Amino acid sequence: MRQFTGKTLLVATHNAGKLDEFRQILAPFGITVTSAAEQGLPEPEETGTTFLDNARIKAHAATQATSLPALADDSGLEVMALDGAPGVYTADWAETPQGRDFVMAMEKTHAALVARAAPEPWQARFCCTLVLAWPDGHDEIFEGHAEGRLVWPRRGQDGHGYDPMFQPAGEARTFAEMSPAEKNALSHRGAAIRALLNGCFS
Ligand code: IMP
Repeated sequence: MRQFTGKTLLVATHNAGKLDEFRQILAPFGITVTSAAEQGLPEPEETGTTFLDNARIKAHAATQATSLPALADDSGLEVMALDGAPGVYTADWAETPQGRDFVMAMEKTHAALVARAAPEPWQARFCCTLVLAWPDGHDEIFEGHAEGRLVWPRRGQDGHGYDPMFQPAGEARTFAEMSPAEKNALSHRGAAIRALLNGCFS
């Protein structure tokens, strides 16, 4: 597996919540983290049908544009009673003409469960695929999952996206009721990042 030996890592995201999580987790390694948004890169169209396809699109576009090694995350929420939706379309469910609205996206998810009369508990999982890509076209892939259930009404002020309605297995609090460190220890992104660190930063 190829090692990351540089000083600066580009995180190929325009999502401030994800960027904060990466910065926090990578801080102890003394790596400077910059982002696609900070570098003024356009957001590539996510035309893939899997988390891996979309993570690859974002990582390779960013490393080609900057010649920096680039790390992309594609993630989403799979709800069992909705046949895995929203899945790769998790961000799309939040789109409005004024930008992303996750309160609306959570309401839409809850409404879909109610419309199907899906019995509780509403099993769900967050998935995260990470791709670390280099300018020569090489890449390495890592995955993480967080199993849990959706709750309603949503609870908590912290986190981002769908955190207020996701309660990880074995916990009484939602991701949005946890500190960033508590969430990282349990989250799909935390698991994928630990695999990345073991694989490429050892
Ligand atoms: P992506 O930018 O295409 O990967 O979009 C992933 C979608 O899943 C976004 O809408 C995120 O808000 C949502 N998502 C991914 N990870 C998390 C998380 O840790 N908590 C809450 N929502 C998440």
